[in-house]
Amino acid sequence: MPPASPSSGFPLRRVRVTAVRPLTPRMVRVTLGDPSLVGAPLARPDAQVKLYFPRAGQTEPELPAPDPDGDVMRWYAAYGALPEERRPWMRSYTVRAHDPAAGTVDVDFLLHGEAYGEERTEEEGERYGEGPATRWARGARPGDVLGMFGPSDLFAAPVDPGAGDWTLLVADACALPALATLAEALPPGHRAVAYVQVADAAEEQPPASPGALTVHWLHGTQSLLDAVRAAVLPDGSPYVWLAGEAGTVRALRRHLVEERGVDRRAVDFAGYWRRRLTQDDAPTPQDLAEARERLAGMEG
Ligand SMILES: Cc1cc2nc3c(=O)[nH]c(=O)nc-3n(C[C@H](O)[C@H](O)[C@H](O)COP(=O)(O)OP(=O)(O)OC[C@H]3O[C@@H](n4cnc5c(N)ncnc54)[C@H](O)[C@@H]3O)c2cc1C
Repeated sequence: MPPASPSSGFPLRRVRVTAVRPLTPRMVRVTLGDPSLVGAPLARPDAQVKLYFPRAGQTEPELPAPDPDGDVMRWYAAYGALPEERRPWMRSYTVRAHDPAAGTVDVDFLLHGEAYGEERTEEEGERYGEGPATRWARGARPGDVLGMFGPSDLFAAPVDPGAGDWTLLVADACALPALATLAEALPPGHRAVAYVQVADAAEEQPPASPGALTVHWLHGTQSLLDAVRAAVLPDGSPYVWLAGEAGTVRALRRHLVEERGVDRRAVDFAGYWRRRLTQDDAPTPQDLAEARERLAGMEG
C-alpha cells in the first residue's frame, strides 16, 4: 500500500496498531497510529471510518494510491478492480476516541463470535459466523497494519445529540462505542435515555456523559424493540439515534415515527450489520431505500 497522503485532502491513511487492550470478554480496544493523525480534525461524535483488512497471507492490505484529484469514486473503482483474492476486506467502524497529540485513534471491536482470547483458524471462524474484521481483531498485535478511509462527510453528516428537548439513544453491542461518543457530546444536564443490548452484565460499559443520562441495559436476546415499545418516555420532542442490527433499527424507527409520532427528521438511524449477511453482500432493496432517505436528509 502506498504512503497515505491525507494532506492532499484524500482521507486515506495507512495505520499501525500501537496497543491492544481487552475491555470486556467480548470487546477489544485497538489503538491505531499514524503521523497524519497528529492534530487531524477528528473530534466529533459518531465519526465513522472504513477499515481495510489484509487478506490471508498478506501482512498489509493492498490498496490503490490516493487519487491525485481527490476523486473518491475513481479511487473506489480502482479498489473494486483489484482481484478478489487480493482486495482487502472493507468494514465500517467508529472512532471511539482520538488523541491528536499522540496521532492515534481508538477503535473498539465487538468480537461477535465467542469470547476474546481464543486462537481460531479461518475455517473455525466461518463456522462460528464471525467475519474477517472480528477474526483480525481477535489476533491483533502491535505493528499490524490496516488501511483507514475517513472520517469523511461522504458517509455521514455530523450529528448533534443535544438537538431536541431530550435525547433517545438505542444501540446493540457493536453500536455501543458510537453511543458512548454521543453520550460524551450531550450538553451538560441535558435529559437523555438510552437502551443498550449486550450479551450479559460483563459487557456493560456505562458511558460517561455530562448529560442527565439514564441507561437501560438489556442482556442476551432481550428485545430492544419490546423495551422501547414498553417505555414511558419523557414529554417533548426528542432527538433520536438508533444503531444496530438493520431489521431491529427499521422496526424501532417505524414504531417511533408511526406509533409515537416522533418527527422522522429528528431520527438518525443506521443498520450496522445484517443477520446472515456480511458487509460484502449487496444491499437489499430496503437498504437502498433507506440509503436514499438518509441522503435526502443530508441534502436538507
Ligand atoms: C457506521 C458503522 C459504525 C460501526 N462501528 C462499529 C464499532 O465501533 N465496533 C464494532 O464492533 N462494530 C461496528 N460496526 C459494525 C461492524 O461494521 C459489523 O459488525 C461488521 O459486519 C463486522 O465485520 P465482520 O467482518 O466481523 O463480519 P461480517 O463478515 O460483516 O459478517 C459475518 C457474520 O457475522 C454476522 N455479524 C456481523 N456483525 C455482527 C454483530 N455486530 N453482531 C452479531 N453478528 C454479526 C453477520 O450477520 C454475518 O453472518 C459499525 C458499523 C457501521 C455501519
